[in-house]
Amino acid sequence: MKDYASYSFWLETSGDDLTPRPRLDGSIDVDIAVMGAGYTGLWTAYYLLKRDPSLRVAVVEREIAGFGASGRNGGWCYPGFPVSIGLLRERFGTETARTISRAMFETVDEIERVIAHEGIDAQWARGGALRLARGEHQRASVENAYKTLTALGLAEPYELLDAAQATERVRVTDTVAALYNPAGASVHPARLARGLARAVERLGGTIYEQTPVVDYETGRSPRLITASGDVRAKTIVLAGEAYAQQLPKLRRTLVPMYSLIVLTEPLSESDWEQIGWRNRELVASSRMSVDYLNRTADGRILFGGRGAPYRMHSLIDDSLDRHGPTHDMLRRMTIDWFPMLEDVRFTHAWGGPLGMPRDWMPTTSYDAAAGVARAGGYTGQGVATANLFGRILADLISGHVTPLTQLPTVNHRSPRWEPEPFRWLGIRYAQEGFARLDRNAERTGQAPTGRNLVERIGRH
Ligand SMILES: Cc1cc2nc3c(=O)[nH]c(=O)nc-3n(C[C@H](O)[C@H](O)[C@H](O)COP(=O)(O)OP(=O)(O)OC[C@H]3O[C@@H](n4cnc5c(N)ncnc54)[C@H](O)[C@@H]3O)c2cc1C
Repeated sequence: MKDYASYSFWLETSGDDLTPRPRLDGSIDVDIAVMGAGYTGLWTAYYLLKRDPSLRVAVVEREIAGFGASGRNGGWCYPGFPVSIGLLRERFGTETARTISRAMFETVDEIERVIAHEGIDAQWARGGALRLARGEHQRASVENAYKTLTALGLAEPYELLDAAQATERVRVTDTVAALYNPAGASVHPARLARGLARAVERLGGTIYEQTPVVDYETGRSPRLITASGDVRAKTIVLAGEAYAQQLPKLRRTLVPMYSLIVLTEPLSESDWEQIGWRNRELVASSRMSVDYLNRTADGRILFGGRGAPYRMHSLIDDSLDRHGPTHDMLRRMTIDWFPMLEDVRFTHAWGGPLGMPRDWMPTTSYDAAAGVARAGGYTGQGVATANLFGRILADLISGHVTPLTQLPTVNHRSPRWEPEPFRWLGIRYAQEGFARLDRNAERTGQAPTGRNLVERIGRH
C-alpha cells in the first residue's frame, strides 16, 4: 500500500486515519455515481444528499479521499475565480462578471458555514488575502486590478495598500504596494477533504477507495466501469480534475500542470516578531509564473509556485511531485522574501497536478439525456470554486433552476488541447516565456508590456 501521508504535509497532518476504505467488490446500482473523491466529487455528493437524503450515492476513488490536489494545495480558500474579473467582463458582460464575483464571495462564506456545521477541524483562519507588488514593475498589475474592480462597482471590500500599510501586515522585501481582500481564508486542505468525506458518509453516501475507474458509459445505462465491477447509476459525475484526461474518452480536455510547494520548520517567536503576519493572510506577488504563500496554523511558512515543466503526453506520475530545480527555486525565493530566515530548515517539499483547460475557463456540464455531469478545469483556483461547482452540479442534477445554473460556466465547452507534440511545444514555450518575462521585469524594473505573444496566450 502507498504511504499516503508522504504525499503532502497536509495528508501527514490530516488527523485522520489514511487506511483506505474498502474497494468496490462487484457491480452495484445507485442513483448517482461520482468518480473522484476530491473537493468537486465530495461537494457534489454532499449537496445532493443534503437535498435528498434518500438518494443512493457512491463515490469511486482510485486512491484515497483527498489524494489529489485537494489534499496537497496551498490552502488558499479565496473568492478569486480561475478567470480574472476583467476577462469575465470582456467575455460575458459586466452583469455576469459581477454575478460570478458575488457568487465566489458567498462561496467562501458557505465553506466556512459547512465547516462549522459539520464540525470539520480545518484550521480555518479568515485573515484575508494580500496580493503584493514586489518591485515597481509589479505596481501597475496591482493598481490595474483595483481599477477594474472599481469600474465594476466591486471595489468595496478591497483596500489598496501602500508599502507601509502592506508591510505592517507582513514584512516582505521589496513590497511597494498591495491589494488586500478581507474575504480570503487559510484552510488545512486535507482536513477539509477528509472531513468532507466523513460528512458525505454521515449523510448516507458510500466511498469506495483504491478503485480506479477505467472507462464509463453514458446514454441508456450510464455507469462507471472498474476492474472490480460497474457502478450503474441514473447519473454519473466525472470529477477527476487533472487525472480525468487519462481516460480515453476525456483525452485532451485538460492538461495537468504541476504546482509545487516547500515548507519551513515552525518559526520561532522572534522570527514572527520580525515578519509580522499575525492574521495569517494569504500572500502572493504579481509574478506571471505564480507564487502563493500561507502561514500554517503551527507557524510554518508554505511557499508554492509553478514552473515544473509540462511533460509530453500530459504525463502524471508520482515522480513529478518533486522537481529539484523548482523546489530549490522556491526555497531561494523564501529567503529572498524573508532574508531573516537564511538559516531556516525546510522540512517538506511536495507537489501535484492541477487541471487546465485550453481556454482557462472552468466548466460545469450536465446532460440529462446522457446521464452524465462533469465539473473542473480550475487551473489552480479550485479550493473555493469546487464548492460553487458542487452546488451547481447538485442543482442541475436535481432539476432545480437557480441563479447559479444560469452562469456561463454551465455547459461551457472548452476547446480540446492540441495533439502532441504541438501541445508540448506550445505549453513549454508559454512556461519558458512567463519565466523569461518575470526575469526581465525583475532585472529591468519595467513591467511587461502586455503585448508579448506569451502574455496574450496566457491572459486569464
Ligand atoms: C500543489 C497545488 C497547490 C494548489 N493550491 C491551491 C490553492 O491554494 N487554492 C486553490 O484555490 N486551489 C489550489 N490548487 C488547486 C486545487 O487544489 C484544485 O483545483 C482542487 O483541489 C480540485 O479538486 P478536484 O476534486 O476537482 O480534484 P482533485 O482533488 O485532484 O481530485 C480528483 C480525484 O479524482 C481521483 N480520480 C481521478 N481519476 C480517477 C479514476 N479514473 N478513477 C477513480 N478516481 C479517480 C483522483 O485520485 C483524485 O482523488 C492547488 C493545486 C495543487 C496541485
